[in-house]
Amino acid sequence: MKSNSHIATQIVKIKNDLPDTARLVAVSKFHPCEAIKEAYDAGQRLFGESRAQELKEKYEQLPKDIEWHFIGHLQVNKVKYIAPFVSLVHSVDSIGLLKEINRQASKYNRTIDCLLEIHVAQETTKYGLTFDECTTLLQSEEFARLEHIRIKGFMGMASYTDDTAQIEQEFHQLGTFFRQLRDDSSIPNTDICELSMGMSHDYLLALKEGATLVRIGTTIFGERIY
Ligand SMILES: *Cc1c(COP(=O)(O)O)cnc(C)c1O
Repeated sequence: MKSNSHIATQIVKIKNDLPDTARLVAVSKFHPCEAIKEAYDAGQRLFGESRAQELKEKYEQLPKDIEWHFIGHLQVNKVKYIAPFVSLVHSVDSIGLLKEINRQASKYNRTIDCLLEIHVAQETTKYGLTFDECTTLLQSEEFARLEHIRIKGFMGMASYTDDTAQIEQEFHQLGTFFRQLRDDSSIPNTDICELSMGMSHDYLLALKEGATLVRIGTTIFGERIY
């Protein structure tokens, strides 16, 4: 089985690049459960998906010791599909979404770990908060009331470019912000320790700037079939 060894080989290769402080989120969106199972058999337990219903279906079919992260844009009306089991939502960019995650989490008697997504790329189409919006949100009364939310850190995507200096600069900004807030223990409902940045083409740059979670799909599973 050639494909089997490919997925396993890629996972081993990436893990060799990771320092002890960083973990691999294997991004399995649009890939079938069989591919996830191959990664699972190679020892991978942490997976990322970007659609709520797809994630729910995969959760139901696959082993229960998988840690599922949600990494895509999450619509408020889809939170219910993943609230019972999701380990970390990387892509929160509004107080409205946080409130719904909080509401669903309380229903299941859970606290759901979340990252705030920050927009650092030049492209205007991507989601995310500015650094100022992020700070304002964390300092708001509304946020302080969300007792079923724990903000674990931040997520970002760099510009899609070959300009390494540009990517480095964006990751550096995120890293600096992350380290500032990590050292500020006065914010309620937070335990800031995660910085999610870096994908197939730029994860080595992200690691240099202190990423603790890298989200890698294509390098492991190949091109996505839509
Ligand atoms: C798809 C996706 C990834 C993985 O991208 P690759 O280039 O396939 O490694 C990472 N992060 C997010 C938010 C994604 O949607």
